Amino acid sequence: MAYQFDKIWSYWAPKNSYWANFADYKWKYCQFSLNEKDIVTHDYENNLIYCSLSSLNYYKYSQRCFSHPNFTIKLNQDITSIEQKNHLFKINSKSDSFLSKKVVDLRSNPSSYNPFFYQIFYGVDVILKNPLSQSNQVRLMTNLCSIKDGVAFDYILPFSDKHILIEPTIFSKIKEFNIAYFKKRIIDICKKENIVIKEILREEQGILPMGQFKKKDKYSHEIGGVLRASSGYGFIKIQTWAKEFAYLFEKSNELKQIKYSKTSNFMDTMFLHYLKSINNNRDVVFYKLAKNMNYKIFYRLMSDQLSLLDCFKVGYSLIKR
Ligand SMILES: Cc1cc2nc3c(=O)[nH]c(=O)nc-3n(C[C@H](O)[C@H](O)[C@H](O)COP(=O)(O)OP(=O)(O)OC[C@H]3O[C@@H](n4cnc5c(N)ncnc54)[C@H](O)[C@@H]3O)c2cc1C
Repeated sequence: MAYQFDKIWSYWAPKNSYWANFADYKWKYCQFSLNEKDIVTHDYENNLIYCSLSSLNYYKYSQRCFSHPNFTIKLNQDITSIEQKNHLFKINSKSDSFLSKKVVDLRSNPSSYNPFFYQIFYGVDVILKNPLSQSNQVRLMTNLCSIKDGVAFDYILPFSDKHILIEPTIFSKIKEFNIAYFKKRIIDICKKENIVIKEILREEQGILPMGQFKKKDKYSHEIGGVLRASSGYGFIKIQTWAKEFAYLFEKSNELKQIKYSKTSNFMDTMFLHYLKSINNNRDVVFYKLAKNMNYKIFYRLMSDQLSLLDCFKVGYSLIKR
């Protein structure tokens, strides 16, 4: 598959941690809003940082790590089939074939899941003519609003005051990518923020499944349980997965499935059930989570570190006014 600048990964990390130091961009503030009046800003003080990393820099770094005479990385191989022959696997790509003793097959099988929602987004990485206001703050979920089959919001990452990623996003029960809808939202954001796009550097898009994954997809990150069902965040968890997976393989010479936090899976499933069951005010649900929850609990929620007490606090933040 293509290894190119096809995405920017964002994630939370403790300040001065490995992944915080590795990031290309960092922010101390994240904003959530329903409209011009209802705005909440999380200030991470000196504890945490919201980070972004370009996929290109990550891929270049990974290739440098593997530059050893005993390793060969074959990029951009579209694998068509994998056949088991006696004790070996024959891996066929469109242009080549390989024999291997072990295979970690990360291809996904979309028919093996039935998500609660799809996270659908289209983003443009742009240079602006005039500066964006409050360019030190990530608009994590701004202009939250309910839509017929879910909820919509805008995600704005300011790399500098004149270089930003604008990414309208929806969580929808329907798997449909409507480019005209997203482009219209980008025009509306520009009007609202009083900005003019000078140049489009790059576009990105995605449809990520949210929840209800079946075990059939053993390893795929997107549907094998690494991607957070309630948010679509997965970068840090994928790194942890890779490390643990390699460690277990080295120790036992077997490829073992990693077990994930049951608390997070339970909380995500409950949350998505609740979200699916209500038809109005889905936007308010997200806003309340941001408003009523301390940023430290919010971080633990996003990074699989919830304690039992945190779970009650998350629940309480949803019922509190
Ligand atoms: C545009 C975009 C932006 C995102 N932004 C963020 C973000 O900011 N933060 C965050 O935490 N998450 C983000 N995600 C979600 C998640 O982190 C990524 O989707 C993540 O990269 C998924 O892991 P993966 O690449 O291993 O994909 P998986 O789908 O789990 O793994 C599939 C892997 O197998 C390869 N593959 C599949 N089929 C074949 C085939 N036939 N032949 C060869 N190779 C194959 C794929 O290229 C891929 O590498 C984003 C996703 C997208 C699409």
